[in-house]
Amino acid sequence: MTKSSTEIKTLKNYIGGQWIEAQTEKYEDVPNPATDQTIARVPLSTPNDIDIAVKEATKAFAVWSKTPVPKRARILFRYQQLLVEHWDELARLITVENGKSYKEAYGEVQRSIENVEFAAGAPTLMMGEQLTEIASGLDSAMYRYPVGVVAGITPFNFPMMVPCWMFPLAIACGNTFILKPSERTPMMAQRLVELFNEAGLPQGVLNIVHGAHDAVNGLLEHKGIKAISFVGSQPVAEYVYRTAAQNGKRVQALAGAKNHTIVLPDADLDLAVEQIIGAAFGSAGERCMACSVVVAVGDIADELVFRLKEASDQIRIGNGLNEEVFLGPLIRESHRQKTLGYIESGVKQGAQLVRDGRLDSVEENGYFVGPTIFDQVSTEMTIWKDEIFAPVLSVVRVNTLTEAIELTNQSRFANGACIFTDSASAIRQFREEIDAGMLGVNIGVPAPMAFFPFSGWKDSFYGDLHANGKDGVNFYTRRKMVTVRM
Ligand code: NAD
Repeated sequence: MTKSSTEIKTLKNYIGGQWIEAQTEKYEDVPNPATDQTIARVPLSTPNDIDIAVKEATKAFAVWSKTPVPKRARILFRYQQLLVEHWDELARLITVENGKSYKEAYGEVQRSIENVEFAAGAPTLMMGEQLTEIASGLDSAMYRYPVGVVAGITPFNFPMMVPCWMFPLAIACGNTFILKPSERTPMMAQRLVELFNEAGLPQGVLNIVHGAHDAVNGLLEHKGIKAISFVGSQPVAEYVYRTAAQNGKRVQALAGAKNHTIVLPDADLDLAVEQIIGAAFGSAGERCMACSVVVAVGDIADELVFRLKEASDQIRIGNGLNEEVFLGPLIRESHRQKTLGYIESGVKQGAQLVRDGRLDSVEENGYFVGPTIFDQVSTEMTIWKDEIFAPVLSVVRVNTLTEAIELTNQSRFANGACIFTDSASAIRQFREEIDAGMLGVNIGVPAPMAFFPFSGWKDSFYGDLHANGKDGVNFYTRRKMVTVRM
């Protein structure tokens, strides 16, 4: 049954502590991807809306940047507590608007809370450094200051975690923030701001402007915004990086991925299969740390492919709110169609389709594709080159670890890479020779915790300072050096 139009919530922007309508005629429907039912309408805001938000955030910055750091941290402690209290509600909201399973959504809430916990360490994180006697009678000290109004532009695949990579730390460092959430998963932002308000955050410190490319361009070009944090697909990341830099802003732009997992003949196959299934098909493959290519080394390939197929046949597909479901829908029907096109291209280009996720039937009306596995994939094929961002796994066969590393390094992307082996020398060779920023040994998804940088390389990242950890603190602060003769 479709909701009547009066029941469907039309989202508003949140600016200067008020929920206000966007100055736009353009709205987009937001469907639940598991059911195809419309659950909200999101405004596509304009640069005018951005301008109003920047004015309010600038006003708030004057006060917030001077608010004592321990006082800022205390608000983050209260926020952490409220997020914990609303854990189940937040996880359900993630599943409803994004489609991932409730278990994965629950894990996403945990990762998000960890970012708030890290940011609550602001008094330590914001500390400077000093050295006496840098020359006779001279001392030097470094102080940290916030940069000003900061904006975050986020993707659909982690509606809570990726915004939480950005605004808690930026705000803890004394900046004020404008969040432009993904127009495909815009509802979480509202709850995040409501709970932060309940924790005592002053008006204007965190603002939300909904929208798509017009709102993004408004942020990139606005003189009042000093830094841009972006997470999303590669072409948009590159565009955001160039445009924001051209406009004199600091920018960190985290982009797409094509993560390879190398499996050596001495690997614990039970562990490898379990971890690869989770990494390839969890969150319907819509993860920047998803495993999308397995590189099978030597004579393990036949057994590995057989067992991956066997394990993926057991996967339950459907609405993620059903606790038995492992694989939810893709985010939109258009993305499903694109994925079907990739599967077709794999078949046409000569890969061997071991498991065809197009044949899985699901009772729900959403945008489902079942687990899909290709064997005998080669680097000329489109399914090897492109980020598909769906439950489609490619297996490439090689003879040696050196070949596996060379093949992995041919990818333009370099977010993560994993290896399954018991050999210390293989692990060392992998660590030293792989061109990627986040490595896993005998683990499927090596996503760093909040206190380490999320450090993609090559076309998976544009900028200098990554998100999270000390990089995040450096990105959201300016340093002042003071040299004193006394
Ligand atoms: P996307 O690039 O389509 O959208 C990201 C953001 O950019 C959204 O807020 C969107 O409104 C905006 N946007 C989209 N097109 C734009 C345009 N033409 N001009 C200006 N702004 C535009 O990405 P997505 O589909 O929402 O997210 C999935 C992508 O994000 C995947 O490529 C995934 O690998 C990547 N991702 C990367 C990381 C990482 O840490 N490297 C983390 C999560 C997701």
